[in-house]
Amino acid sequence: MPQLNETHDPALTSWVESANSKDTDFPIQNLPFAIFRRKDSHESFRAGVAIGDQVLDLQAAGDTDILTGVSQEAIQACCEPTLNHFMSLGWPNWSALRLTLSRVLRTGSGAQSKLERCLIPQAEVEYSLPCTIGDYTDFYSSIYHATAVGSLFRPDNPLLPNYKWVPIGYHGRASSIAVSGQKFHRPKGQIKPPDAEAPVLAPCKRLDYELEMGIFIGSGNTAGEPINIDKAEGHIFGLCLLNDWSARDMQAWEYQPLGPFLAKSFASTISPWIVTFEALAPFRTAFSHPAEDPQPLPYLSSEHNSEKGGLDIQLEVLLETPEMRQTEEKPTQLSQSSFRHSYWTAAQMVTHHTVNGCNLQPGDLLGTGTQSGPKPEEAGSMLELSQGGKQPLTLPNGEQRTFLEDGDSITMRGWCEKDGAAHIGFGHVQSLILPANS
Ligand code: MN
Repeated sequence: MPQLNETHDPALTSWVESANSKDTDFPIQNLPFAIFRRKDSHESFRAGVAIGDQVLDLQAAGDTDILTGVSQEAIQACCEPTLNHFMSLGWPNWSALRLTLSRVLRTGSGAQSKLERCLIPQAEVEYSLPCTIGDYTDFYSSIYHATAVGSLFRPDNPLLPNYKWVPIGYHGRASSIAVSGQKFHRPKGQIKPPDAEAPVLAPCKRLDYELEMGIFIGSGNTAGEPINIDKAEGHIFGLCLLNDWSARDMQAWEYQPLGPFLAKSFASTISPWIVTFEALAPFRTAFSHPAEDPQPLPYLSSEHNSEKGGLDIQLEVLLETPEMRQTEEKPTQLSQSSFRHSYWTAAQMVTHHTVNGCNLQPGDLLGTGTQSGPKPEEAGSMLELSQGGKQPLTLPNGEQRTFLEDGDSITMRGWCEKDGAAHIGFGHVQSLILPANS
């Protein structure tokens, strides 16, 4: 399974100059994958790797003779319009390509003259979904979010008794997941104000974002064969940013007894770049539940998971209103948090998902649930920031928001940093709310 190796060396630099900039998300230690083509072209979508402000076109790179040590099947798979085949090949293949790319992109590499022709500026490309997402599951792994939301929906009983035992999740909708840049119409649905006798069909008035990470499954498992916690990380291809759009008024009316449905299925947006699990190796953290809480059942527990199961990924949410766009004001930060606060690790989510024999497939997406941290300003949704709509937020330009308005744009960013490692980032995921269809 992915470990620290020469590709993480913070001293590495690249002959792609922009990759050596202090503030790039994509230094040579990152090497995330996306599916792209030149903007407004009729080219085929294919796989690329980010390096500085460039995309290395893996199809073009595969046509050179420099990708030594990488299987032909892996090189071929990178020419396909989705990453599913490449994901299915398993981590030794992902890792071999990462190592080769790290070596050929390094300062002084003899491959520079051949690979320069395979670079395209990121400003000149467009992205599609990185893979066909067969199934999307959304977890609920922040105990701070679960407690805050629970206390709004059920003041007398905020955290249900199963929470500290079961990585809670539900089966979400894959068809409405889109890549960054998504524009969607404010959803309509059944809404029942607390004092009304009957619900009405109306545009959502409490439209909200959810700050999440997405976990992409690489190699899957055979139905009936659960993934052991010790093997779980080897099945994870990588992580992206995920905005799990939510209609809170629809959710409040529909969620009992079977959980979220139409309040969640109208749109979800992901960042184009998948940062591989291997790239995240320097940012692993110890994982534990508080001593007074139940400890995970044995199938959700391992020495490795306790030592390194956590991931310290910094996250932030930015809002741009139509007024801010007009006056060319910078988007304003709504919250910041970290994935290290998660009550369950990525490996535990994978293992729990399959413990009943459920088969995961290459390209399946697991949402982590809203990543709220312990402090109020670390809340990962408007629902929490505005205390259920009771406390409007005042923005720097004087505008107020309790939930999101038409024309609002939400951007999420994520990055990892610590002493002794190169800063790596996830880029961003951005989406815009259009008025409800009449
Ligand atoms: Mn969610």
